[in-house]
Amino acid sequence: MAKLFFRFAAMNSGKSTQLLQIANNYESMGKTVALYTSAIDDRYGVGMITSRLNIQRESNTFDAGFDFLAQDYGDTACILVDEAQFMTPEQAQQLHRLAHTRNIPVICFGLRTDFRGHPFPGSAWLLSLAEDVEEIKTICQCGRKATMHIRIDGAGRRVKEGPQVEIGGEARYRAVCGRCFHQD
Ligand SMILES: [Zn+2]
Repeated sequence: MAKLFFRFAAMNSGKSTQLLQIANNYESMGKTVALYTSAIDDRYGVGMITSRLNIQRESNTFDAGFDFLAQDYGDTACILVDEAQFMTPEQAQQLHRLAHTRNIPVICFGLRTDFRGHPFPGSAWLLSLAEDVEEIKTICQCGRKATMHIRIDGAGRRVKEGPQVEIGGEARYRAVCGRCFHQD
């Protein structure tokens, strides 16, 4: 049976690159994939998945009201979801159900926590439901493993308060280790 996968990481980890590589692998075997990304992530244009290596593909989008179970997946061999931290808990449940009732593997990529170190609700649910959870490793500038990320303003100062979702380009965020995260 298919499984729900969650690949989580801090910012700038190459998540989208991995996602597009998996899509490519399926397609090179003549199989069809369904790509999704969050409608609120418009860094590179709505409905585009862009890797740091500047490979870009069109994608379906989901917003908070989107129902993954109501879609027609036809002969889709794999569902790939980028920016999965922006999904609702209900959507994480939908994807878990989808993997197990329709036998389609679902691979979600996303951030575990926001810039304050608080969990994204969608990611908390994915961590709880996914049968296969793996961390994509990133290094902090101090050399330790980065597990968190911080938000930075236009002048390079750290921002500690504000809304959970504020898309301003990856330049506004930096992946850091827990020690650097708690340093003032
Ligand atoms: Zn560090």
